Amino acid sequence: MLNFENSFHKLNNNFYENVVPSKPPKPETISFNKHLSQLLGIKTSWIKGTEGLECFTGKQIIKSSNPLAMVYAGHQFGNWVPRLGDGRAILLGEILDQNNERWDIQLKGSGLTPFSRNGDGKATLGPVLREYLMSEAMYKLGIPTTHALFIAKTGENVYREKVYPGAIITRVAKSHIRVGTFQYFASQGQYDLVKVLMDYVIRRNFPEINNDRNKYLSFLKFVIDAQAKLISKWMNVGFIHGVMNTDNCSIIGDTIDYGPCAFMDKYNENTVFSSIDTFGRYSYKNQPIICQWNLAQLANCILPFLSNEKEKSIKIAQHEIDRFPEVYNDYFSKEIFKKLGFSHKMENDNKLKDELFDIMKQDELDFTLSFSNLYFKLLNKDNDLFEFTDKSRAFTKWISKWKLRLKKEKKSITQIAENLKKSNPIIIPRNHLVEEAIKFALERDNFSKFFKLLKLVSDPFKYKESNFNYYKPPNVLDKNFKTYCGT
Ligand code: AMP
Ligand code: MG
Repeated sequence: MLNFENSFHKLNNNFYENVVPSKPPKPETISFNKHLSQLLGIKTSWIKGTEGLECFTGKQIIKSSNPLAMVYAGHQFGNWVPRLGDGRAILLGEILDQNNERWDIQLKGSGLTPFSRNGDGKATLGPVLREYLMSEAMYKLGIPTTHALFIAKTGENVYREKVYPGAIITRVAKSHIRVGTFQYFASQGQYDLVKVLMDYVIRRNFPEINNDRNKYLSFLKFVIDAQAKLISKWMNVGFIHGVMNTDNCSIIGDTIDYGPCAFMDKYNENTVFSSIDTFGRYSYKNQPIICQWNLAQLANCILPFLSNEKEKSIKIAQHEIDRFPEVYNDYFSKEIFKKLGFSHKMENDNKLKDELFDIMKQDELDFTLSFSNLYFKLLNKDNDLFEFTDKSRAFTKWISKWKLRLKKEKKSITQIAENLKKSNPIIIPRNHLVEEAIKFALERDNFSKFFKLLKLVSDPFKYKESNFNYYKPPNVLDKNFKTYCGT
């Protein structure tokens, strides 16, 4: 039996609406995350059994749970929406893990809430499988993210452009509070609630700043730092979130709300996947600047707490927001130089890095393989994956220059190679593989391809020759590939 805590529920009832999850007609477990359930102290026998299934599909509400839907607002594609909220998500409560860390346990797709607007509060199987796979892959790539604990079919039909099987994903995170949560209260002038919310996040997620003299300025700095770090990690694996609205911007810097996200195959900084992103607002290259824009919205919400004088508060906030590019670039550089095997930055390293990105773009090289091939190149190990980079003469020329640069490193070739291997994933959940696995599951009710892919992306730095087909880019790149929102 689980014992939920309800710190958010107790905080202030302006932050949520009490809700009851819909009862699914015929719930059926698809999978659960063993490692995560163990961390949370959940017994395997319990989660595997009827009680686990009924808890994580909303069929039974555990006594200690106070289910709620959180309220928030947000800028969607730059347009202000004064009230959004959890339209298809229900927070069951929190669990303290073995290290006394507090995790939210949230159902996604379990029915209507007061924030459902025109939606049905449901989720379909495809996007649920997608989120399970993508969030696990991100976690294993070392990228902050919400986690997926449990996925199940509900046994009911959900109507979209077609009829799909309904499904529910149990999402776990150290916070579900978003920039949009702050915006909701600030936009209504309820600064007392902004303060309660901020104090809650500080106590729960950033305890180290609790005693700072200006802890609200520290809070802003912390969020900026966490977001800069997150986006730099996305950029270093070619991940495109797709819907970086302020309501999808987690206050603790997790990747949250897996909708139309995807990894790039061939490199182009203008890549956009989301079907609704007509103007490319959330393209790969725009992610840092959009992040900065989102953070400016947050800063705006907490101005009254930065100082007693309005003008001074604005100056302080502006200064912090202006620092974002520097903070971001620091993180990005550290990460990219690690990917190139440079232990510290030397003269011309930036140029060498820029040259590589130019070549990748010009010759339409695969993002992931351009980096993972470096390991094999350094060791002169022949590899079938070279065919995807060596068609570019510029790339092979660049490799010679890069090898010369590596001679200045104080480490042995073997050491550098080991570091390259750890920093450059060989496998990411490529669109065509994800789509194929989901299609197979939907059409045949057979999850074998899904589980196989899940297993491989859960060990993204491990190379095995026989997995070549999972490493290679799609044969014919579907230029019109689009991903859709709506889990
Ligand atoms: P998202 O695309 O997850 O960022 O969602 C944007 C907003 O739309 C959030 O307020 C969601 O709760 C809401 N929403 C999305 N899909 C549904 C749905 N099927 N039913 C109800 N609300 C939804
Ligand atoms: Mg969202």
